[in-house]
Amino acid sequence: MKIVVLKFGGTSVGTTDRIKKIANIISGYVKKKYKVITITSAMSGVTNDLIKKSKDVSNNFNLSEYDALLASGEQISCALIAGRLNHIGYKSRSWMSWQIPIITDDNHGYSRIIKINKNKIINYLNSGGIPIIAGFQGINYYNRLTTLGRGGSDASAIMCAKFFNAKKCIIYTDVEGVYTTDPKKLKKAKKIKVISYEEMLEMASLGAKVMQPNSIQDARLNRIDIDVRSSFINKKGTLITKKKNIFRDKIITGITSTTNDSKVTLIGVKDRPGVAASIFKPLSQNSINVDMVVQNISANGKETDLTFTIKSEDLKKTQKLIKNNMKIKFRKLIVDKNVSKVSIIGVGMITTPGVTYRMFQTLANHGINILVISTSEIKISVLINKKNIKKAVKALHKEFKLSN
Ligand code: ASP
Ligand code: MG
Repeated sequence: MKIVVLKFGGTSVGTTDRIKKIANIISGYVKKKYKVITITSAMSGVTNDLIKKSKDVSNNFNLSEYDALLASGEQISCALIAGRLNHIGYKSRSWMSWQIPIITDDNHGYSRIIKINKNKIINYLNSGGIPIIAGFQGINYYNRLTTLGRGGSDASAIMCAKFFNAKKCIIYTDVEGVYTTDPKKLKKAKKIKVISYEEMLEMASLGAKVMQPNSIQDARLNRIDIDVRSSFINKKGTLITKKKNIFRDKIITGITSTTNDSKVTLIGVKDRPGVAASIFKPLSQNSINVDMVVQNISANGKETDLTFTIKSEDLKKTQKLIKNNMKIKFRKLIVDKNVSKVSIIGVGMITTPGVTYRMFQTLANHGINILVISTSEIKISVLINKKNIKKAVKALHKEFKLSN
């Protein structure tokens, strides 16, 4: 069976007009003799609206009900797509996660798919039907609805491609593919033809919003090729695949920047074994994600300065936790909301020396001061003042010849 999985994001199904358009995209694959499994997201804005409603009712909304509420968004778009396909002469129906079922773990709000039961969908495909499956949702072993985290219909698509052994998984979205950097911020950004899972994972985690990071991890583990393309214009998109399939002539593949980071510095921390652990333990217990960390070697062996970054929305809570932390002693707490993390990403840097130097020199040439540095095998991140983001991204894009 030649199966293709098509996933449509919120803007692709954002209006009833858009629903008609994508029904034509779906039927196009049927005409090419594919068995088509469609996964859909909720119409754009619907999930946000549901979240808002839950907050209006309670600031501590029950997590199982939160999932039951949020899962309703995808039911609407599913039914509309199936209904439109019926209208233009195709056999199609909506499938909610519990009707298949799609089994997830029990982490309400950010569950992962464990298993997808194939029988009913395969039978339906064999009968000539086009199943339209609700993305983003599953059920746990207690038969309660679960959701897969914001943007989670990407993960639904990848896992369907895995369980149904699809030939292709195509993510239809409102941009033409993955770009060297955000095209809304830099005109010279170029569409990337092919990118590795590892690079895409870094790009998505570092601020490129094309796909949900979890879903890329799922694709990497299961070796599923993903095609990201626009549902608005018919143009070749970006292929996400394994490194082995890629020939690259560039050292850097993409550049990302963040806009919602904050920097926290503790000055004059009494230095003794376990002090870093004492600082970070309450943060982790409160689900605050610490990103970049630097600790200075103390000059006198007694005191040290420690800097780290977090998401700005966690800043207030972090300040409170540190001030209330009896286990640590420090002289001063400084916070800075005006920071941004700019990262260059590329598997090419593994084999090319001098990339770090070139990045730092480029920033220096433009008078941009680096506050914190962190690196991995395929990425270098620097923290800089927010006002310099545009300048930094532009300069690095040029230095690593990403527009060529
Ligand atoms: N509708 C969900 C959300 O907005 C899932 C998705 O769009 O992928 O997060
Ligand atoms: Mg999405």
